[in-house]
Amino acid sequence: SVTPLRLPPWLKVTLPADKHFGQTRKLLDDLRLATVCQSARCPNIFECFGCGTATFLLMGRQCTRGCRFCNIGEGPPAPLEADEPARVAEAAARLGLATVVMTSVTRDDLPDGGAGHIAAAIHAVRQRLPQARIEVLIPDFQGDAAALQAVLDARPDCLNHNVETVPGCYARVRPQASYAQSLELLARAAGQGFVVKSGMMVGLGETDAEVRAVLEDLARVGVTAVTIGQYLPPSRRHMPVTRYVHPDIFKEYEVFGNNLGLETVSGPRVRSSYHAGEVLEKLAGR
Ligand code: SF4
Ligand code: SF4
Repeated sequence: SVTPLRLPPWLKVTLPADKHFGQTRKLLDDLRLATVCQSARCPNIFECFGCGTATFLLMGRQCTRGCRFCNIGEGPPAPLEADEPARVAEAAARLGLATVVMTSVTRDDLPDGGAGHIAAAIHAVRQRLPQARIEVLIPDFQGDAAALQAVLDARPDCLNHNVETVPGCYARVRPQASYAQSLELLARAAGQGFVVKSGMMVGLGETDAEVRAVLEDLARVGVTAVTIGQYLPPSRRHMPVTRYVHPDIFKEYEVFGNNLGLETVSGPRVRSSYHAGEVLEKLAGR
């Protein structure tokens, strides 16, 4: 058997749950809303909930895919709830969010992959909070250009889609996805002038050279911003981590990405939605 790697000191966070954390959680419970922060066991949850930030998870808690790094349950998907967009808008308003980040499980069972529901959520938030910036982190819609267009037509301020890992690791990490398909989605959104974000995790078996090659691909297709973070297995049943990347190496990725013209946020605890508001603010000022 393989001994699991020990967690390095820079990843140990023990922040006590404060008042704001509890309030945020209660509000989400009251409105029956799921967040990826909770479902993915994000290490930043105390920090984000403590500042009233959360990433909403739309369309249920069960995903039709079963990526081996992800803690979101695989199983029969739930029927869509027509009032979910309004509940998300309500939560965003009560939390006073300046940036609203929404993501979803992948719904390969729905004819449009759930694009219409995501678009409805964008409209609902915009109506309730006209000043807020809206970022959506979307699935690949199995390459369905019409589904992507339905989301783009709702005019999110930022279209995010993660490549998650380097192409050489797809077969192992994201067997139902395709790197080329994800790049094409990003290129389509960028081609229409949207602020486009992508991201990946390290510690899944990639090399630094492969990370740099992905950054080059993302820059080539017109991506605006990139996040790079450390993969942390949510449990022992998940894919094991292959390495803990040192903060200095994360810095090197960041410099490399920035030199390619990508607004790069790279660090051990960085997640796709980490400090999303600040990133969008920076981009607006470019
Ligand atoms: Fe939630 Fe993103 Fe913050 Fe993690 S980084 S707690 S997923 S908002
Ligand atoms: Fe998790 Fe997304 Fe994969 Fe579903 S498609 S298992 S939500 S990473």
